[in-house]
Amino acid sequence: MAQRVKRGPDRKGRFGPYGGQYVPETVMQALAELEISYRKLKKDESFLTELRGYLSDFVGRPSPLYFAERFTAFLSGPKIYFKREDLNHTGAHKINNTIGQILLAQHMGKKRIIAETGAGQHGLATATVCARFGMECIIYMGAVDIKRQAPNVEKIKLLGAQVITVESGSKTLKDATSQAMRDWVTNIRSTFYIIGSVVGPHPYPMLVRDFQSIIGKETKRQCKEKFSRLPDVIIACVGGGSNAIGIFDTFISEKSVQLIGVEAAGHGLNSGRHAATLSKGKPGVLHGSYSYLVYDDDGQIILPHSISAGLDYPGVGPEHSALSDSGRVKYVSATDKQALAAFELVSKLEGIIPALETAHALAYLIANKKKFKVRQKVVVCLSGRGDKDMANFSENDKD
Ligand SMILES: *Cc1c(COP(=O)(O)O)cnc(C)c1O
Repeated sequence: MAQRVKRGPDRKGRFGPYGGQYVPETVMQALAELEISYRKLKKDESFLTELRGYLSDFVGRPSPLYFAERFTAFLSGPKIYFKREDLNHTGAHKINNTIGQILLAQHMGKKRIIAETGAGQHGLATATVCARFGMECIIYMGAVDIKRQAPNVEKIKLLGAQVITVESGSKTLKDATSQAMRDWVTNIRSTFYIIGSVVGPHPYPMLVRDFQSIIGKETKRQCKEKFSRLPDVIIACVGGGSNAIGIFDTFISEKSVQLIGVEAAGHGLNSGRHAATLSKGKPGVLHGSYSYLVYDDDGQIILPHSISAGLDYPGVGPEHSALSDSGRVKYVSATDKQALAAFELVSKLEGIIPALETAHALAYLIANKKKFKVRQKVVVCLSGRGDKDMANFSENDKD
C-alpha cells in the first residue's frame, strides 16, 4: 500500500540536513533563476510534450523490462528483471537527464553549455544533445580519465564539443567538477551548467531526480503488465546516485518494495581505496552541497577508487544521504573484483555486456543470492552498456 512519505527538498533545498547551496553569491542568483524556470516549465504541458517527444524518438524510450532467464536460473533464487537503460541512445541512463536540462537551457535562452565528466558518459550524453540542438559545448575532464576513457573522448570531439583537460589535483572527476564550477562563476550569464548526477547545489539534485524518475515510472507500469504487481526488490548502483534515485523515486512511498543501492568498495571497504560514500563516509560540503563524503584519517576528502570511472566520486547525492539515515534505502557495496566477475558472468549468461558501474549491482545480487526468496521479483537497473569498459576488463582479467 502506498503511504505518504515526506519528500524533499524543502524550501531551503534540503533533504533533512543534506543538500542546500554552498556557493558564491553570483551563483546563488543563477540557481534561483534556474529553480524558477524549472518550477514553471515542469507544469507547462507544451514543455512536457516536447520532452516526451525527444525521450521517445531520440532516446528510444520506453526502455524494456527484460526477464533475465539464464541469470535467474544461475542464481536459482528470485526472478531477475533488467530495466534496460543500456538500450538508450548513447548507451546509458545519462541522456534522460541531459535531454531535460538542454530543453531547460533553451527555454532560459542560454547559448553555451558546460559539463563535467568522469567516465565520459555524461560528457557524451551532453555533447550529443548539444549537437542535436546546435549549442556550443565545453566538457571538463580530468587528464587521468581522458586516458582511461579514450573512446568516449573521441566521440565527444566528433560530436563537436570541446574537451578541456583538467590537470589539477587528482586529475579525475572531482577536479573536473571544480573546474566546471569555476567556469560557471565566470560566465554565469551566458552559460548553462548541465550537472550529470543528483549532486551539486539545489535545485540540481531535485531536477536531475525528476528527469531520471521516468525509469521508475516505466518500471512500475511494466511490472504490472508482466507480473501484475509491484516488484519485491529494486537494486541499482550508486555513484552520484542518479540512476538509483531515478528507479527508486516512485517506489519510495511503496513500503512493500525493498530498495538497495550498491556503492563501489574498490579494493575493499577497509582498504582506503574505495568510493563507498554512504557505507564508510561522513557528512561534509563538496561541490555546493552538504552530503556524505569519504575522508582519510587526516580528515582530507580522499581520492576515491573504483574500477568503474562512473562510480569514482567521493560524494553522493544529498537525497541518498537522507534515505540512508532514515533506513528507507539500504546501501551496500561490491568490490572491483566482484564487479569484474559479474561483468563477465552476465555477458556470458544473457548476451548483455553491462557497464562496470552496473556490474556492482549485479555483483551484490550474486554475493547475496541466499538472502532472496524464490517467489521474489527483483528488478536491477541496468544503467548502461559495457562496451566502453572492454579495455579496462581485458587489462584486469590477466591475473
Ligand atoms: C555515470 C554512470 C553511473 C553512475 O552515476 P549515477 O549518477 O550514480 O547513476 C552508473 N552507471 C552508468 C552506466 C553510468 O554511466
